[in-house]
Amino acid sequence: MAFWGDYHTHTTYSRNGRKLHAKGTVLQNAQSAARAGLKELAVTDHGYGHAYGIDGRDAFAALKEDCRRAEQATGVKIYAGLENNLDPRCGKRADIKPFIGTDDATLSELQIVQGGYHAFIGTPFMINNMMFWTRNVIFGIPTRKLVQRNTAAYKRMIDEYPIDFIGHLNRGIIADAVEIAVYAHERGVYIELNGRHKSLKPDELRAMVAAGVEFICNSDAHRPESVGNMTYGESLIKECGIPYELVANWERLPDFRSRNFKSARAGKSGVNVVDDQR
Ligand SMILES: [Zn+2]
Ligand SMILES: [Zn+2]
Repeated sequence: MAFWGDYHTHTTYSRNGRKLHAKGTVLQNAQSAARAGLKELAVTDHGYGHAYGIDGRDAFAALKEDCRRAEQATGVKIYAGLENNLDPRCGKRADIKPFIGTDDATLSELQIVQGGYHAFIGTPFMINNMMFWTRNVIFGIPTRKLVQRNTAAYKRMIDEYPIDFIGHLNRGIIADAVEIAVYAHERGVYIELNGRHKSLKPDELRAMVAAGVEFICNSDAHRPESVGNMTYGESLIKECGIPYELVANWERLPDFRSRNFKSARAGKSGVNVVDDQR
């Protein structure tokens, strides 16, 4: 009994100049995935705008080429993606796009589309970011209005982009996780059980299970040895009684919704149409 794929891993493309944030190359992650018996692997380095984000479009093109070669070398199916960052301001401002930094051209090339929130990026004014983070994380007693805005931001991300799964939902931001998970599920989007971050509470996970939400269990590995390590996700599965039928990469391959993912799995190149999930 095993997980068949790991769809959230980082490589040396997550870096700041010479300072590496994650330790392994794409090939090393792929070799580790092969040793762990995985059939599929996604490389999802931090997106544009993150302090350790991939260094622009040329770097993403290189990442994609590394994925192609590593797939040939190891026999593990590899998808090239990014960890795209949600701009929570989009929950109240229609003129702000849900993703920070990910331009449409890059979006059209992602073979798997992950969306999630990370603190301290994107907004032009650090002070806004500090205030947001303070309200959401330090005090942790957000107003109902703030929760509504953050929830709306996640929903816009689901509506406006071909998101395949939401990474560490509610980490560093407080939204209505259950409402978002149900909304995501109705649109074919998986909720991640992240291997490194405790972002979802047991009662939220139980409510999601009751609503039939489907999950994807990922390592969020930042070093090759951690690829395929689902220990934390499995502890949540056991603690919250998540049935394995609701875990999309347990003993089966998940059915991600984006057109690019489907074509990449079929071995064709495809182009994501930003609107096509409505
Ligand atoms: Zn990271
Ligand atoms: Zn990550």
